[in-house]
Amino acid sequence: MDKTTLAYWQEKAAALAIEGRAFIGGEYRPAESGRTFDCVSPIDGKVLAQVADCGEAEVNAAVSAARRAFEGGVWSGLNPRQRKAKLLKWAALMREHLDELALLETLDAGKPIGDTTSVDVPGAVYCVEWFAEAIDKVGGEVVPADHHLVGLVTREPLGVVAAVVPWNFPILMASWKFGPALAAGNSVVLKPSEKSPLSAIRVAQLALEAGIPAGVFNVVPGGGEAGKLLALHRDVDCLAFTGSTNVGKLIMQYAGQSNLKRVWLELGGKSPNIVLPDCPDLDRAAKTAAGAIFYNMGEMCTAGSRLLVHRDIKDVFLDKLVEAARGYIPGNPLDPNTSMGAIVDQLQLDRVLAYIEAGRAEAKLLHGGSRVQQESGGFYIEPTVFDVSQHNAKIAREEIFGPVLSVITFDSIDEAVKIANDSDYGLAAAVWTANLTTAHEVARRLRAGTVWVNCYDEGGDMNFPFGGYRQSGNGRDKSLHALEKYTELKSTLVRLR
Ligand code: NAP
Ligand code: MG
Repeated sequence: MDKTTLAYWQEKAAALAIEGRAFIGGEYRPAESGRTFDCVSPIDGKVLAQVADCGEAEVNAAVSAARRAFEGGVWSGLNPRQRKAKLLKWAALMREHLDELALLETLDAGKPIGDTTSVDVPGAVYCVEWFAEAIDKVGGEVVPADHHLVGLVTREPLGVVAAVVPWNFPILMASWKFGPALAAGNSVVLKPSEKSPLSAIRVAQLALEAGIPAGVFNVVPGGGEAGKLLALHRDVDCLAFTGSTNVGKLIMQYAGQSNLKRVWLELGGKSPNIVLPDCPDLDRAAKTAAGAIFYNMGEMCTAGSRLLVHRDIKDVFLDKLVEAARGYIPGNPLDPNTSMGAIVDQLQLDRVLAYIEAGRAEAKLLHGGSRVQQESGGFYIEPTVFDVSQHNAKIAREEIFGPVLSVITFDSIDEAVKIANDSDYGLAAAVWTANLTTAHEVARRLRAGTVWVNCYDEGGDMNFPFGGYRQSGNGRDKSLHALEKYTELKSTLVRLR
């Protein structure tokens, strides 16, 4: 059958067997309490599966399994190239099951199938491959020391790494944690969001099939409570988190209340996208600005949710922008032609609609603003654009995590930089200019972990560290720097005589 049709994916979805149990110590198990939660598809609001609601018993069992595997050396004790081989096998299995994993992701999180098959799942596979390929090439150092000494600086795995991840790119965000953590020799306990647990549960089985020993990779689906239990656990060495700034703050407190585990936070954003009057290509800039906020329904930590436009080009630019926004039409995520899928759940839908209401009161609505496709039973919102007169209005200041863009007008580069940096966040930023000096100068002044010049969201490869300044978090995912999060540095000094 033709993969480019809605019918193909609907048929495949109907035939899909969905696993909802936790994966602990190499086997699937239900929660000891017998508790489950409804896993709902935002496509039509229907229940996809019952998923184990993991609590203390499962979190403890998963951490113990991970600890036993670590201490036993079945993974941590392998040569790097042995781990590499098994991780590559795992990646290959994920690739074999690409359509199935993409379908789980689409059904569970409402993401367009065209994206999950081309971005989410291939991106996760690539991440595992990249860290697998890297791990037998990075070494320690022999450092200058007194003549009677040999000084070694080596890196060792931490032990048990817990990863707590969000729902906007479920398997991709998870891979950015488990890829480097496993490559470095740690054992992992992954807690996916209760809004999107299915792909994580599935890849755990594939890990075992690939020869990654039981207990090395465990998945405990559940709500925030399961994440909290991991963050408070005294036998977890590191908590790698991607999610909201508010929960990130709690995670740090939990670490402080328990064992001072390493905490790495990839948090929210309110990223500025600055269009200067000498922008080299207004058409492309407008299309890119629309993509920066409407791709993935705006459920993007890096979303270019603040568009800063110079007054001289504002009118002409906004015409182009609204035209580009019209190209995002919410539709069935299972249709390969759909450019915009469903909002992840009713709660997030209500949240975004509340922000749109607030926007109507404090800004001028230029486009969209409504829930659509309600008859489907699913959760769809139009791409929405507001012209905001006050740059610190609620919709222009708080992270909405939905398809809502705030346009802010400025008159000078200094003013644009000041507005851009006037935020609690600092995840990403962009500037559009034809002047090389301006580009570099503005890039230097922007307080953000990633700065794009004359583009947005580029850089799908693994070489760029990803993470935020300020309340967008600490530490970096991706790149060799990510290995720093999952290893301890050890100095060994050997006295020769
Ligand atoms: P969230 O509410 O903070 O949830 C993130 C994860 O934490 C989920 O697995 C959640 O479980 C869990 N959690 C909730 N309360 C917890 C608690 N008290 N203790 C421990 N864990 C807890 O964030 P979200 O709504 O899923 O995701 C959206 C946020 O993620 C946005 O702010 C976005 O910017 C950010 N994000 C950042 C990046 C980045 O790399 N910087 C990437 C993607 C997303 P449940 O979902 O099951 O409640
Ligand atoms: Mg779901």
